[in-house]
Amino acid sequence: MSNNNIYADFGISDKVFAFGEKIVEALRCRFDSIDKVSEITFAKVIRAMQKNRLNTACLMTSTGYGYNDIGRDTLEKVYADIFHTESALVRPQITCGTHALALALSANLLPGDELISAVGAPYDTLEEVIGIRPSVGSLAEYGVTYKMVDLTDDGRADLNALKKAVGKKTKLVTIQRSKGYATRPTLSVAEIGEIIRTVKEIRSDIICMVDNCYGELVEELEPSDVGADMVVGSLIKNLGGGLAPVGGYICGRNDLIERCAFRLSAPGLGKEVGPNLGTMPSFFEGLFLAPTVVASALKGAVFAANCYEKMGFKAVPGAAQERHDIIQAIELGSKEAMEAFCEGIQSAAPVDSYVTPVPWAMPGYDSEVIMAAGAFVQGSSIELSADGPIREPYAVYFQGGLTWNHAKLGILMSIQKMLDRGLCNPEI
Ligand SMILES: *Cc1c(COP(=O)(O)O)cnc(C)c1O
Repeated sequence: MSNNNIYADFGISDKVFAFGEKIVEALRCRFDSIDKVSEITFAKVIRAMQKNRLNTACLMTSTGYGYNDIGRDTLEKVYADIFHTESALVRPQITCGTHALALALSANLLPGDELISAVGAPYDTLEEVIGIRPSVGSLAEYGVTYKMVDLTDDGRADLNALKKAVGKKTKLVTIQRSKGYATRPTLSVAEIGEIIRTVKEIRSDIICMVDNCYGELVEELEPSDVGADMVVGSLIKNLGGGLAPVGGYICGRNDLIERCAFRLSAPGLGKEVGPNLGTMPSFFEGLFLAPTVVASALKGAVFAANCYEKMGFKAVPGAAQERHDIIQAIELGSKEAMEAFCEGIQSAAPVDSYVTPVPWAMPGYDSEVIMAAGAFVQGSSIELSADGPIREPYAVYFQGGLTWNHAKLGILMSIQKMLDRGLCNPEI
């Protein structure tokens, strides 16, 4: 087997190549079930495009105010169909996931309202949005108060504590599907449904919002199928399929999305304005590819977990565990190992393969962050990438891979870089 090491030219040793082949062989069944889910989600995506009569005119560019933009309006109907929601806001004017989340929150929370995070600390960049870390323009500055419900000791949602936390002023409960930069388990859609049921039993008018980043199309159902009033995410993650150059989405109840549209543009203007600026081909085609791309990323994540667990590192989720997002955390235990891992991912990239990632202070993040990304779209994390804050437990968060081949190459390179520095031992 090591005789046909097709990656020898990349500096991958026969030992690492053979190790990878052995792991892949054992994963055939897992890969089959990943493909099965993507077949189902693909059917959902293409059916939504057909039902909404996607046509050539929808792929044209609009500029200026963007009045009567049939492409933009059709895209939003397609998203609403996929998520089974009344409405959707999907725009290139929403820059990223944080922007989409800030928009959904600030549009639907008024002075005196209370926001609750149901599953522990939210994603790092939301700390300034909420005002947990004081920031200009935060929700706190506008008089929105905030409470967080801690997770249980095993990292699950604490439903009893949540029941106690909800009060008269509680207006919106935010639920983060993916673990983000934490090492808690990612929530399944079923678990999200349970949290929502708990909230709605107390008061049905409390808005349940799900930060859906990295979770899209991983399961047959989405959080909006189990009662979420709004689901929010980034187009340079799962749903952009690697082709969207920018963008964010919010899908949900009509009244809530209307408020988001008024906040994004201006009261009175709402969804009517917002040119597509030529993004329609990439938004539609990216969405069309997204089920397959997500499957590739999932295979990469499962492969990484199995390789690293075999070498004695802690993988979250574990090698044999079911997936609810495309993120694979691996606790490497040191800054040096994080650097070696990221170097490996970087050296497998199509773009910027020759650069060395170094830790730096990124806007919105509390500690230094290291990132490996040689992406066609800047910062795209549906493309093969790895990152992590330089702090205990020195975990890298590995994600993406537009193709399984690329994900595999990246992981083999990461193992090789670690091995070169004596930081791992790939023995079968
Ligand atoms: C990526 C991510 C965000 C923020 O998205 P950006 O596009 O980086 O601003 C928010 N929440 C979660 C869980 C994420 O993974």
